[in-house]
Amino acid sequence: MIERFYNQFTPECDSCGKKLAGQESRRDALAALRRAGWEIDGDGFCTCADCLFELKGYEEEGR
Ligand SMILES: [Zn+2]
Repeated sequence: MIERFYNQFTPECDSCGKKLAGQESRRDALAALRRAGWEIDGDGFCTCADCLFELKGYEEEGR
């Protein structure tokens, strides 16, 4: 989810609890999330790159 604390919006992985650096707007938080390779679904459920890797089981390298 995107956790809001005053004017800081912090992307947090809903699978493992990992967080990214807080951003000043929800839009920036979403951009940071995507830059980091995370995904967010329509319900606001965030998944970090590590968890995506585990879920999908694909290899980014060696192709
Ligand atoms: Zn995670």
